[in-house]
Amino acid sequence: MSRGQLPVAQPAEVRRASLRLVRADARAFTVVAALNAAAAAAGLAGPWLLGRIVDEVRAGSGTDAVDRLALAIVACSLAQLLLARWARYVGHRFGERTLARVREEFVDRALALPASAVERAGTGDLTARGTADVTAVGTTLRDAGPDLLINLAQALFLLGATFAVDPLLGAVGVCGLLPVWLMLRWYLRRARDGYLAEGAAGSEVAEILAATAAGARTVEAFRLQRRRIAASREALAVSRRRRLHTLWLRTVFFPVVEVSYVLPVAGVLLIGGVLHTHGMLSLGSVVAAAVYLQQFGSPLDEILMRVEQLQSSGASFARVEGLAGAPRTARGPAAAPADDRIDVSGVRYSYGRGGEVLRGVDLTIRPGERLAMVGPSGAGKTTLSRLLAGVDAPTEGSVTVGGVPVAALDPEQLRRQVVLVTQEHHVFLGTIRDNLRIAAPDAEDGPLWRALATVGADGWVRESGGLDAEVGASGIPVDGPQSQQLALARVVLADPHTLILDEATALLDPATARHAERALAAVLHGRTVIAVAHRLHTAHDADRVAVMEDGRIAELGTHEELVAAGGPYARLWRTWHGEPEAAGTSAGPVGDSAFKSGE
Ligand code: ADP
Repeated sequence: MSRGQLPVAQPAEVRRASLRLVRADARAFTVVAALNAAAAAAGLAGPWLLGRIVDEVRAGSGTDAVDRLALAIVACSLAQLLLARWARYVGHRFGERTLARVREEFVDRALALPASAVERAGTGDLTARGTADVTAVGTTLRDAGPDLLINLAQALFLLGATFAVDPLLGAVGVCGLLPVWLMLRWYLRRARDGYLAEGAAGSEVAEILAATAAGARTVEAFRLQRRRIAASREALAVSRRRRLHTLWLRTVFFPVVEVSYVLPVAGVLLIGGVLHTHGMLSLGSVVAAAVYLQQFGSPLDEILMRVEQLQSSGASFARVEGLAGAPRTARGPAAAPADDRIDVSGVRYSYGRGGEVLRGVDLTIRPGERLAMVGPSGAGKTTLSRLLAGVDAPTEGSVTVGGVPVAALDPEQLRRQVVLVTQEHHVFLGTIRDNLRIAAPDAEDGPLWRALATVGADGWVRESGGLDAEVGASGIPVDGPQSQQLALARVVLADPHTLILDEATALLDPATARHAERALAAVLHGRTVIAVAHRLHTAHDADRVAVMEDGRIAELGTHEELVAAGGPYARLWRTWHGEPEAAGTSAGPVGDSAFKSGE
């Protein structure tokens, strides 16, 4: 466990969550329990009737009486079979509905996770919980759960019936089960931790494989193959060790339990035999009790098998349910922002266990202003822009829009206030209309076309078949600039008053930059813009410039003020301005800053 892993639910939380699931479908659960009880009751008649047959034969009754009793045994067995099947059917349906509930809750919780929590834990852990763990819980709910209920009912009824035949024989049976009980305790004490460790090791393997696959190019470029292979090997070795440990628990547990089954039967036959020879018990009663306890082995076997499965899926459920305890993006219907003003006050921020990346930032952005953030790499510009866009909340201090914390706004509210524009313009599977309506679910075709026209995308969309054209993997091909246009059209539709722009990632390569910048300029028009500026002419064209250094705002003012002040910005400006190639760039195809090109 190396990173800030997602939490795992404690046993008490798992119990509460299980009860909540049962209560959510209480009627079905009651029906299952009642049917199981009825099936178990029908099953009790067999051994009792067998005892009667023994007594009738010993008393010298005719075959008629025996036939009648035998027929009753057949009828009872049939009734038990049908009731048990019915119980299993209702149980499966209960399990499927409950599994659907678990899945839906998991998706809701996963979506509510702050991006920072997922980043810290790694996507592998979340993926392992959403796949392997949910599947394990599903198998238990569908098969193990209903089975367990049937067998529990049978075992309880069989034990009760043994006591009903003769309390002393019942007590002998219970004493005979003592080794099973002790073994079960031994096993349960070790199993939860064993299976949790096994699950965590599985997540680690998934995480390393996912990270290696996702960063394959980097791995190749930096020749990290050996290191990645070594890391994978180590994770696999840990996973193997932990699996072997749980396997060892099972190989001790099951054989011991298997041998223990015969003890109650042997005890009853011994004590029952003695009682019978002293005339204290009929032979039929001894036979009935012995058959009950002999039958007891079968549901007990099933129960123990299922307990084993419950342990491993209980650990899975603890990992699935653990998301309930994960930090949530504290979004809800927050109060509406009073105005468009963005205030950053005393903001500190650190990524997980790392040191502080922002160390006390104060900044007020005036509506309609164009603010450029400049500074050396690693100064915290991107981090501040993520907080301004509400992607994450500050560790200390506040980032508010119109007096309301930005990170507390629900997505609907947030996208009308602040939108972060980055290079990550994913094209979603579906029609162009679907892709645009992400930003405005109720928008009619008119506004959609107007948004496309604003970013200069109406032409190719019309040629490709209009708003109904399918895009994504199997649809019409959409290239980089086109997908950026769709992303920008979404910004137009969301119509936020403020845009956060990361120049490094918001712009394309020089060949397409001019085209993209025109679209971008149209989108920026009339909005407050905070740009992480990597080119100083953006700062030159901005209303104000914030210079970030080492997690703080070192300087703030207009370009002229800062040049006149002779501080860090003036030094940057002189260096940049004095260099011929830099000056040349400003006249090149990407020479216009995002701020200036639209004006
Ligand atoms: P800038 O945009 O000014 O280059 P960043 O905000 O990207 O600066 O980074 C500020 C500091 O935070 C850097 O030291 C960087 O290593 C660290 N950092 C950035 N992103 C993460 C992350 N996801 N996890 C941990 N540290 C991070």
